[in-house]
Amino acid sequence: MTTAARPPALRTTSAIAPTPILPVGQHAHRNAVESLLDSYGAIPRGETVRLAKPTSNLFRPRASVQMPGLDVRGLGGVIAIDPEARTADVQGMCRYEDLVSATLRHGLMPYVVPQLRTITLGGAVTGLGIESTSLRHGLPHGSVLELDVLTGGGEIVTASPDEHADLYRGFPNSYGTLGYATRLRISLEKVHPYVALRHVRFDDPEALADAVSRIAADGSWDGEPVDFVDGTMFGIGEAYLTLGRWADSAESPSDYTGDRIYYRSIRERSTDVLTVHDYLWRWDTDWFWCSRAFGVQNPRVRRIWPRRWRRSDVYHRLVGLENRYGVAARVDAWRGKPPRERVVQDVEIPVERTAEFLRWFAKEVGMSPVWLCPLRVSDGAWPLYPLEPGLVYVNVGFWGTVPIAEGGVDGDLNRMIEAKVAELDGHKSLYSDAYYDEAEFWAAYGGDTYHALKRTYDPDGRLLDLYQKVIQRR
Ligand SMILES: Cc1cc2nc3c(=O)[nH]c(=O)nc-3n(C[C@H](O)[C@H](O)[C@H](O)COP(=O)(O)OP(=O)(O)OC[C@H]3O[C@@H](n4cnc5c(N)ncnc54)[C@H](O)[C@@H]3O)c2cc1C
Repeated sequence: MTTAARPPALRTTSAIAPTPILPVGQHAHRNAVESLLDSYGAIPRGETVRLAKPTSNLFRPRASVQMPGLDVRGLGGVIAIDPEARTADVQGMCRYEDLVSATLRHGLMPYVVPQLRTITLGGAVTGLGIESTSLRHGLPHGSVLELDVLTGGGEIVTASPDEHADLYRGFPNSYGTLGYATRLRISLEKVHPYVALRHVRFDDPEALADAVSRIAADGSWDGEPVDFVDGTMFGIGEAYLTLGRWADSAESPSDYTGDRIYYRSIRERSTDVLTVHDYLWRWDTDWFWCSRAFGVQNPRVRRIWPRRWRRSDVYHRLVGLENRYGVAARVDAWRGKPPRERVVQDVEIPVERTAEFLRWFAKEVGMSPVWLCPLRVSDGAWPLYPLEPGLVYVNVGFWGTVPIAEGGVDGDLNRMIEAKVAELDGHKSLYSDAYYDEAEFWAAYGGDTYHALKRTYDPDGRLLDLYQKVIQRR
């Protein structure tokens, strides 16, 4: 067969999934679960059970990490893909970069692919990932058909809408405090080779929120379908919605893993096209815009910064070092600069109140850029993160530090954000710093249901509870 006669699907596949990952199979999965159970059994009764996992996308520092933890080394793969049924059986600690690589080989992808390569499927389902398909598909847990969980009590339980439905419903936003997912069966969506983008500018947040509502209502903008939507606010008078649609061909797709930087392109051009692979990882290369803190956006540094280090997990490790050793904070103190508060949050605000939040945020916090991502869930029965079904929310993400005001203390701004989000009937993700008192925390995050689940699935309290983990950072 000549190259010209090669089937288009194969050409497409090699273009969009450079190094496909092969499934590990059922046998290897069973062995890995055995090792996990052995490691659970080896942790002395009375000691807290924790994961021993090499990567994390959590931002809140933990007080201590006790080793050995649960051995999850063999649980990082795809078990099997059923291209006909468009489903995949995936191990709980499988990173999305490996999951996507395996599914693209079949011209498929998960319904929601969080932007950071090393986020795992189990982490995204228990910790609520989000992406530009979330207006169509909701959050990652919405496309989970069933999952196996190693509960705090040490049993492997299969949870689905029909079996252990309470655990299936209560797992999202439980952050590994009810149990750890070892296998998840998820639905997959058919992909096209390219995603064509329009960056549409809005001069005020009211017009942007109005556009989100219109896109949510009819799935299109200016007569073109909208398959993906997210946004970037550079200032209160300059924000963009990036509207993507599937495309089957492209002249010369852009590549933002080299000298060019994706988030800058949003202001510089009104249209663009990327392979589906590059679209899914467009934000990872520069960790949205956060790589600028390491000088990587300076052309001279970028040229010598190895390509394999242009990844969110590398930057995350650098932040971890700063958290541990506080070098920048000490230099700031030495130069007489005020100490800074970490403000790293994602919040969900009803679309009708998003403009009000953005105006308040610009005035009180003043951090930019800000990431925007509309979402809507069709099913409201997720008690630990009770979003209103059918209602459009906008996720607002902001990640940085701000100087602590004279006379203020660390945490002031984060507390103000929590209060504002509650006032606007919003919700706040729990992957980062949180300051709620215990009563308001349980009221906002399904406390009654959670405590009942904890009694059933972790009766001896081998795992931390959600409040201890999120607020007390144990
Ligand atoms: C700066 C920043 C930006 C972010 N931006 C985005 C974003 O744009 N889009 C997005 O989707 N998400 C984003 N997140 C949030 C991220 O999706 C969540 O923090 C997610 O939980 C991370 O998953 P992980 O696999 O890295 O898990 P980890 O960080 O290792 O763990 C997160 C929590 O999940 C628990 N956990 C891990 N694996 C399992 C499992 N198999 N079963 C049960 N519990 C488990 C852990 O115990 C822990 O409590 C962001 C986070 C940060 C820090």
